[in-house]
Amino acid sequence: MKIPVAKPYLDKEEAQNAYDTILTGWVTQGPKVSEFEEKFATYTGAKYAVAVSNCTTALHLAMIVAQISDNDEVICPSMSYIATANCIRYVGAKAVLVEVNEDYNIDIEDVKKKITPKTKAILIVHQVGMPADIEAFQALCKEKNLILIEDAACAAGSAYKGHKIGFHSDLVCFSFHPRKVITTGDGGMITTSNSAYYERMKLLRQHGMAINDQIRHNSTQVLITDHLELGYNYRMTDIQAAVGIKQLEKLDWIVAERRKIAFKYHEALKNFDFLHLPIEKDGYFSNFQSYSVYLKKNCPISRDDLMQKMLDLGISTRSGVMTTHRETAYKGYSDAKLPFSEDRCDRSIVLPLYVPMSDVEIDFVIENLIKLLK
Ligand SMILES: *Cc1c(COP(=O)(O)O)cnc(C)c1O
Repeated sequence: MKIPVAKPYLDKEEAQNAYDTILTGWVTQGPKVSEFEEKFATYTGAKYAVAVSNCTTALHLAMIVAQISDNDEVICPSMSYIATANCIRYVGAKAVLVEVNEDYNIDIEDVKKKITPKTKAILIVHQVGMPADIEAFQALCKEKNLILIEDAACAAGSAYKGHKIGFHSDLVCFSFHPRKVITTGDGGMITTSNSAYYERMKLLRQHGMAINDQIRHNSTQVLITDHLELGYNYRMTDIQAAVGIKQLEKLDWIVAERRKIAFKYHEALKNFDFLHLPIEKDGYFSNFQSYSVYLKKNCPISRDDLMQKMLDLGISTRSGVMTTHRETAYKGYSDAKLPFSEDRCDRSIVLPLYVPMSDVEIDFVIENLIKLLK
């Protein structure tokens, strides 16, 4: 048996919608992107959604509309995919890297210690789909007059205190990379209920163009556009949006299936006192984009041995989420001392989790894992 660590759930519906879109002749940002945005906004409960080429460009636009620039500092967790901190550097600001807590989410106590007069925003990450404590960060941002930005790359379909991620604040950035819960190949989305942010992000993602090509195409008058400011080409294509529309219809079902598998892992592993498992606190609802297990010091097998022995049996796993401050691209940039994050990163293993994952596959993983842990 060969068990991958992840795979996207796509079927004929996505292929058909992409096929139909191609035959309309309108293939880049157009009516399908608008439809996907409206449906995504409705799904999250936000007023607006802006589709872009990926979550990294979504985060970049969030930084720009939040007016973050050189001389500013933005606090984010080191433990995240590197794009989180990179987007702060894109606008010339300083990424201040902080610790995570037991849930692998940004540690508010460490954030409080790192706030300076230069701090302009806090960029929280919903780590592998587990929401961070949004209300606590909203309160802190209000008190300190900071902007809250959410890196929800992994968190489509997750919820916090009764609302889907995307609802709670004004710059929430999602990814549709195949490693996330739903995919458009590559793709991203920003949800917001702030109309000024919304208008500016729509402008920036399409070269700063005052009148977009969809409007020009449909106009009976000749329209000549101006470019209002330095913009970018961060468009999503209609082919991608056609896939995304079908993926979004399946999102709640995919999340429900993922949660069933996560609970099976939890049941099977909860009695090993040398493991720390993901815990969903009251009011938190994870899409389980990943199921990451931390091996405490008294675990009888090392993380790397466990990964290799699993791979020998045909079971792919991954190491835990990376720490940005130890990457070569951050050498000499950050002198952050983050022992908790480093330990979490070095001793965590991500187990296979995808839809559909058959009972035979789940049992194969669980049985072998238990054997190796004994
Ligand atoms: C995947 C990921 C990103 C980058 O998303 P892309 O769509 O690949 O640009 C950013 N932040 C986090 C936390 C991620 O997991």
